[in-house]
Amino acid sequence: MDVIVKNLTKFYGQQKAVDNLSFEVKTGEILGFLGPNGAGKTTTMKAIAGCLTPTEGTISIGRYNVADNADKVRQLIGYLPEHNPLYTDMTVIDYLRYMARLQRIRAAKINDRILEMVNVCGLEGEKHKRISELSKGYRQRVGLAQALIHDPQVLILDEPTTGLDPNQIVEIRELIRRIGREKTIILSSHILSEVEAVCDHIMIINHGRIVADGTAAQLRKAEQGGQMVVATIEDADRNLVVKALQAIEGVEMVDIVKDRPNTVEVHSQPERQCTRDIFKTCVANGWTLTELSPIETKLEDVFRELTK
Ligand code: ATP
Repeated sequence: MDVIVKNLTKFYGQQKAVDNLSFEVKTGEILGFLGPNGAGKTTTMKAIAGCLTPTEGTISIGRYNVADNADKVRQLIGYLPEHNPLYTDMTVIDYLRYMARLQRIRAAKINDRILEMVNVCGLEGEKHKRISELSKGYRQRVGLAQALIHDPQVLILDEPTTGLDPNQIVEIRELIRRIGREKTIILSSHILSEVEAVCDHIMIINHGRIVADGTAAQLRKAEQGGQMVVATIEDADRNLVVKALQAIEGVEMVDIVKDRPNTVEVHSQPERQCTRDIFKTCVANGWTLTELSPIETKLEDVFRELTK
């Protein structure tokens, strides 16, 4: 089910938390929200989940407008809020049963759904414990189980892997990817590698506005501009190397790499490739080229550049 956000703006008093955001997420797509603290991620997610009223703009889930169909939208959406509020006096089973009833799942189906969630979210060993007795990671799994209990078409997950250990993170990511094949998922995270590993599509938000939108590869490319390669050239005078490489058409900059006197970083102009000419230049001068490899901009660098 597609999620369409149009011109979403939210003010808290005088403060503009979200500023005219528009985007779409299609069925089977996982969108990752990245952004520094206070960027507006949670506010946007709450608005999509129907938990707060936007100051301006519209949100639709499939053919339903969120503002006019709050009840219907609640059935279509599973929401794991940022601080994962749970009734900690209840046992896991009782809590899931309670959430299933709130979601109006038919009585005859409730036990099956609970069993499935216990299974899918790895809660078998913990299901009879009170939530207050669970570790943070298991509480997070209970939050995920309640978000999924009614088999929603759209999942909104605000920092879903917070507090999980590395093994649990891998398991939850796999679970999200599996669920994401059929459903529409929007998740936020501060872990850039997570967003890159899990999401088809990344949106970086800063001060309530979209500053980048695309796949991880597209974002890296947009930030990087032209091609960047590192070349290690032996048996050569490095001043001559720099001069010769700088003379190649399309080369923008040549830098000697710190602590590696035989290695240079070569930046080409946008849409230009220079590896072939670097190789030819080495051959023509009788230099030995022992390394020629592309450098990829890290998503971290893209994030820092766009949100600083
Ligand atoms: P984080 O990564 O820290 O969770 P975020 O990107 O989710 O941040 P939001 O929680 O959406 O950011 O907050 C956006 C801005 O709106 C912040 O400046 C925050 O202080 C403000 N804000 C959020 N909720 C409220 C509220 N209930 N009342 C007043 N201001 C709020």
